[in-house]
Amino acid sequence: MPRIAYVNGAYTPLEDASVHIEDRGYQFADGIYEVVLRVGGRFWDLEGHLKRWARSLAELEIRAPISEAALKIVIAKLVEKNRLGDCMIYMQATRGVASRNHPFPSADTAPALVLTAKPIDLEKLNAKAAKGVAVITRPDIRWGRVDIKTVGLLPNCLAKEAAVRENAVEAWLVKDGKVTEGSSSNAWIVDEKGRLITHPLGNEILGGITRQTAIACAESLQMKVVERAFTVDEALKAREAFITSAMNLVTPVIAIDGNRIGDGAPGPVATRLRARYVQHNAEV
Ligand code: PMP
Repeated sequence: MPRIAYVNGAYTPLEDASVHIEDRGYQFADGIYEVVLRVGGRFWDLEGHLKRWARSLAELEIRAPISEAALKIVIAKLVEKNRLGDCMIYMQATRGVASRNHPFPSADTAPALVLTAKPIDLEKLNAKAAKGVAVITRPDIRWGRVDIKTVGLLPNCLAKEAAVRENAVEAWLVKDGKVTEGSSSNAWIVDEKGRLITHPLGNEILGGITRQTAIACAESLQMKVVERAFTVDEALKAREAFITSAMNLVTPVIAIDGNRIGDGAPGPVATRLRARYVQHNAEV
């Protein structure tokens, strides 16, 4: 069965799905996106992702292509048309098609909306987490508004490619000696007192929806969460480290730049937090 995409109101076989070459997403990365997981028939943290979607659009003054209610219907229909079980949904909105020129096009330019969906293998993701993953560090060379989930991800792609070339799963981005976040995930450590430390919200990180839920889950487990930046040195000395993202859920980090973290195996805090996070999403 061919995969089906949603493009500006139409459900189309993926191989035929296309956008105009003067779409501002293509020309200027003038667009935003979200990634949502659907597991066991439930969309995980959908409300949080839709809230951030609306915020990203508002920050860039891009008109919402369709209402939130309509978007929910499109998401459900796309899953149905692709006959998917556990899957991830990718949705992207851009400022639309206009003759290439830096200023915003006229206000009546229709924003463009594209959605795709593909299966995920939760067992594979769980196996990856059970082993733990390696990360490397790279300078954070991104722009000053990475809190907006834009499709302008070239620095993230370069960092991720560097990680892959070093047999790592993620690159932690470092600014002024501090870890901001991963190239596609938020970064966490557990200190010697068992406190969970992750960079505070602001313009220097993307406010991960998984991060937000993980904080609530950690607190429900009586774990102490401290939102502050940490250095690479602190990370190397940490008891545990882990990453959070929609696709990684909570995934333990067992090595940073080739140095073992803790005893080089997934730690109890990250493992418990992942289990709680999965349970939370199965329940809400
Ligand atoms: N930071 C960056 C740079 C990301 O790309 C992502 C994933 N989109 C995250 C953090 C984690 O966000 P979420 O938990 O909402 O997937």
